[in-house]
Amino acid sequence: VAAAYSDHAHYHADPEVRARNLAIYEFLVPIVKGWSTEMVNEVTSLGVQVHGGMGFIEETGAAQYYRDARILAIYEGTTAIQANDLVGRKTVRDGGAVAKALLGEIYRTAEELGRAGGAAAASMREQLEKGARALANVVDYVVANVKRDANAVFAGSVPYLKLAGIVLCGWQMARALLVAQRELANDAGFYGAKIAIAQFYAEHILAQAGGLETSILAAKGDAGVLALSEAQF
Ligand SMILES: Cc1cc2nc3c(=O)[nH]c(=O)nc-3n(C[C@H](O)[C@H](O)[C@H](O)COP(=O)(O)OP(=O)(O)OC[C@H]3O[C@@H](n4cnc5c(N)ncnc54)[C@H](O)[C@@H]3O)c2cc1C
Repeated sequence: VAAAYSDHAHYHADPEVRARNLAIYEFLVPIVKGWSTEMVNEVTSLGVQVHGGMGFIEETGAAQYYRDARILAIYEGTTAIQANDLVGRKTVRDGGAVAKALLGEIYRTAEELGRAGGAAAASMREQLEKGARALANVVDYVVANVKRDANAVFAGSVPYLKLAGIVLCGWQMARALLVAQRELANDAGFYGAKIAIAQFYAEHILAQAGGLETSILAAKGDAGVLALSEAQF
């Protein structure tokens, strides 16, 4: 999806469309880099875990993927630096305008899910709407508080990046689910798997959005993050 925005940003005939797509593409860059590289650590770690002890020893190859993936959240720009970019240049500078435009798209997809029918779509709609509201609350908090208390806002920057990643990926899962439901009769195995994966994502990953929102908004400042003195480490 980020690549599609990039294509329109660079090649669309209309300069206004180019500018709009460039702004969305730039908003997505730290999320794609930061969240994807964090997520690959979880995925490759699970790859070791599901093989048990055999996963940890070298012969299965799972540990090699885990080790190779570990560098990505460092040399693609570290997660905290991507999160700083998401807060500063990508959210605060335009008063949250691009974030809110994307949230508008997400709410529209949620409405489509409401018309689609079926347990997977109902589950996805519920979690996508909750996730979008969580993200909207955090965007409002970031924009409203960054000048008054920059440290407090930046203390929540990595959770904000993860929240944005989880919700935006949920949006793409939701779009895939809608297509899969329409195409199910053409290939029940393939599209059935897409629906099942989207439902799992909604109920087990997207559902984490509320916790991330709480960790940002409940902190009410940076006291918890900066409580320990250097000597206490
Ligand atoms: C295998 C490998 C290949 C590389 N290849 C390239 C390359 O091709 N080109 C290139 O330019 N670089 C490359 N790098 C360097 C890479 O870009 C840096 O490692 C990366 O920018 C992090 O810098 P650092 O290692 O000095 O960590 P530090 O800057 O010391 O960061 C340590 C930790 O503190 C956090 N941190 C630092 N500053 C802040 C801040 N202001 N706010 C919040 N948190 C902060 C970081 O997120 C990180 O978690 C490579 C690194 C490795 C290991």
